[in-house]
Amino acid sequence: MTRHRILLSVPHMAGSEIRYVQEAFASNWLSTVGPNISAFEAEFEAFVGLPAVALSSGTAAIHLALRLFGVQPGDEVFCQDLTFVATANPIRYLGAEPVFIDSDRKTWNMDPDLLADALRERASVNRLPRAVIVVDLFGQCADHQPLQEICRRYNIPLLEDAAEALGGTYRGGSAGTWGDIGIFSFNGNKIITTTGGGMLVSANKDWVDKARFWSTQARCPGVAYDHAELGYNYRMSNLLAGVGRGQLEVLPLRVKQRRAVAFAYREAFHDISGISFMPQADHGLHTNWLSCFLIDERIFGHTRDELIRILDRAGIESRPVWKPMHLQKLFQGCSRYGGAVGESLFAEGICLPSSSSLTPEAHTYVANVIREAAGVPKLSSLTMTTVGQESHLEHRQYALAKAL
Ligand SMILES: *Cc1c(COP(=O)(O)O)cnc(C)c1O
Repeated sequence: MTRHRILLSVPHMAGSEIRYVQEAFASNWLSTVGPNISAFEAEFEAFVGLPAVALSSGTAAIHLALRLFGVQPGDEVFCQDLTFVATANPIRYLGAEPVFIDSDRKTWNMDPDLLADALRERASVNRLPRAVIVVDLFGQCADHQPLQEICRRYNIPLLEDAAEALGGTYRGGSAGTWGDIGIFSFNGNKIITTTGGGMLVSANKDWVDKARFWSTQARCPGVAYDHAELGYNYRMSNLLAGVGRGQLEVLPLRVKQRRAVAFAYREAFHDISGISFMPQADHGLHTNWLSCFLIDERIFGHTRDELIRILDRAGIESRPVWKPMHLQKLFQGCSRYGGAVGESLFAEGICLPSSSSLTPEAHTYVANVIREAAGVPKLSSLTMTTVGQESHLEHRQYALAKAL
């Protein structure tokens, strides 16, 4: 029997996307202006509760956010060490330098105590960073309240990179709303996709408007091509915003599906020692965008890399947890605070196939390849549990949830 390779995280269309795309064709609004863009922004605003601007990528959103904060050549920006490189790259686009801050084991995100120590030390030598970037890794929010308080104490703007956490919550509020600016990504592997795209949100509407202006080459109003500021070609197209509208309608369902995938793995591994589930902090809803586990090789019997190879031979894609930025050649020589937690999560962490469209058969197959590697008997099928916290889903998700 030949089976298709089971991938880590694939796009999952709802079906209604094509209708919005067809409307764009029919009306010939195919560029970066049109009804889908305005509607997508309005619907997204209603979902997260903050003014929003639709952009060509999450990376573009981070670039614009740092410029809104006034990051300049020679500045330093404190940045979560354990993340995807797109979090840190825009710091360099602006000629600034990243300083990496380690994570805590509770959330896998920036350690508030370490940030407090780092800023206290920098304040004492009068070298505070221009901004701080915190990430909500794999669908789980950082511990935002203390992080926010520390940044306010020193009057440093905070960016929340919620590219991986759309649909997640922290203390009842949406992911992406805890910084002075928040950003999201609609890349093909994220929980919902526009094939490629991003969103910038902020309570400061002037900033959102400014980002929109810069994203369309900073062209001044009027018929002539007048420019007073440096701009970019960073706007989302009306065609892709149509895909986003259809996707946003099923976001609450996608969150439930991703969580069900993750918790079914946990269930399937309950009798295996040496494999542990990513912690689920009790401060909010973790979407489990990717299902992440830690492998203790001495107990499990294989290293993380051996398990990746075993899965690969069985036609299953899996990946290590993100490689910390301080281990990247690109950022060699950058300053940092801590790093050991991120290093160990990277050494032991594995991301398993997590698509919301994963079939029960494929899911059982993946779990059984891992059970076999651990030397325990295979299961005939997985238990799909719906686990606690689901009431959080109702929060702010008003009409969208009704569509389910
Ligand atoms: C995906 C991702 C981004 C970048 O988003 P793009 O839309 O791909 O540019 C930024 N930060 C994190 C943590 C991501 O996972």
